[in-house]
Amino acid sequence: MNLKIAVIGAGPAGYPAALTAARLGATVTLIEKAQLGGVCLNVGCIPSKSLLDAAHRLDIARDLARFCEDNVAPTTPMASWSKIQARQQAVTAKLTGGIATLMRQAKVTVLNGSAEFADAHTLNVHTAQGDQTVPFDYAIVATGTQAFVPAPLDKLPGLVYDNSTIFQISELPKTLAIIGGGAIGCEFATLMSSLGVQVQLIEMQPRLLPNMDEGLARVLTKNLQKRGVQIITGQAVTSASVQNGQAALQLKDGSTLLADKVLAAIGRTCDLTDLHPERAGLTWNRKGLEGVNPQTLHVTDSIYAAGDVTGLTLLAHAGTRQGIVAAQNCCGQNATYNNDFIPNAVYTDPELASVGLTKAQAKGLNVKSHKSFLLANGRALTQDQADGFVEIISEADSGKLLGAVIAAPHASEMISTLTLALQAGMTVAQLQQVVFPHPTISEMIAEALAK
Ligand SMILES: Cc1cc2nc3c(=O)[nH]c(=O)nc-3n(C[C@H](O)[C@H](O)[C@H](O)COP(=O)(O)OP(=O)(O)OC[C@H]3O[C@@H](n4cnc5c(N)ncnc54)[C@H](O)[C@@H]3O)c2cc1C
Repeated sequence: MNLKIAVIGAGPAGYPAALTAARLGATVTLIEKAQLGGVCLNVGCIPSKSLLDAAHRLDIARDLARFCEDNVAPTTPMASWSKIQARQQAVTAKLTGGIATLMRQAKVTVLNGSAEFADAHTLNVHTAQGDQTVPFDYAIVATGTQAFVPAPLDKLPGLVYDNSTIFQISELPKTLAIIGGGAIGCEFATLMSSLGVQVQLIEMQPRLLPNMDEGLARVLTKNLQKRGVQIITGQAVTSASVQNGQAALQLKDGSTLLADKVLAAIGRTCDLTDLHPERAGLTWNRKGLEGVNPQTLHVTDSIYAAGDVTGLTLLAHAGTRQGIVAAQNCCGQNATYNNDFIPNAVYTDPELASVGLTKAQAKGLNVKSHKSFLLANGRALTQDQADGFVEIISEADSGKLLGAVIAAPHASEMISTLTLALQAGMTVAQLQQVVFPHPTISEMIAEALAK
């Protein structure tokens, strides 16, 4: 086979696509205009989790006094933002270096430049060394999404971060208003409050995490409030101005909030203007490329898509699976992507995770809910982390598992067990046969199923 495949974008969708296609024998060019690893490795999943881990360890260290004589801990930790940042940058550098090695080993040609379509079988790539033409049999568009600052926050020059630029700040603000109570906003509220920043979290919908299960939002709201985060829901920012060097945010109810800095965490947008997809017969909107087949990831005869640009699920692991499926299909296989069982995790305190249908999404179906609470779990009590629950939804008649939500320490790890069970089409009775080690928080799954 001398199949030429061009992959545009080296994020968690693009680089696994390139690797898969190369391993299947194709001649692969991977084009990236910024850094290998995309948003996920450079300004997303990995840096945010590195920062959250540092904040979590500081929280634990601050809690040590109660295990020490006279309630005095050996040292009282003062967070160093620059050291926390340095660790985060080192982790990112290690991972992006790993991708470069993987590409070299797989003989993928990596072009550092910005790609644009010339037609349905040719790309022009603008590199620092000049322009290059890349002809292809198949292209996989994996160009991701971008952070953006919506109006009226754009009226606050120098005072607003978006969900990419927040990673580059040189010092922590004293007060931070976070606009958007989705996963990114809630993770930053957790992080910043651990680091001593006074946080105001503003969400337009009546509750935090409007796209996730209500029970998860309740557990998180309680924890954030305990940390001193001021949560304002059901309010939108209607206007913004600078007052004495601070951001003044006027809310729908007429009240005004003041903050040193603002984080716009209201989602991401797709902008393919520079890629000129129209020259290859593609159309797009702010959510992504139009006409992507959600199972095969096929868009036109010569073009596939993967990752955020498909608009299917804006998560790294969903993009990775899509990249692999798109590459396999370019290479003549019949691979399919299933968007139904993509787990979703939020790395707050406690962690939150879900997979499949939530109770609200299952409304109208004849379902049974199986729920257990952390309060009765031995391991959770030994760790003073007993706020949370596991809820599993099954079809009432057949017992077939439909979905699960978890609020618990390491929920992001626990959800894999339930993802596997859902993917395998298991029933409650089948999952009840599984023995979980004791004492673990995973036992909550067995506890829930017993109800
Ligand atoms: C703060 C934050 C935290 C997050 N945390 C998580 C998390 O914990 N778990 C999770 O699953 N997801 C998380 N996400 C989402 C995750 O980062 C994205 O879903 C994922 O990065 C999408 O992967 P992708 O490959 O589709 O696109 P991207 O990662 O955006 O990569 C696309 C790449 O394409 C390149 N590109 C674009 N246009 C061109 C062009 N014309 N020519 C050449 N190159 C081009 C870009 O430079 C970019 O590197 C987070 C996102 C943010 C912002």
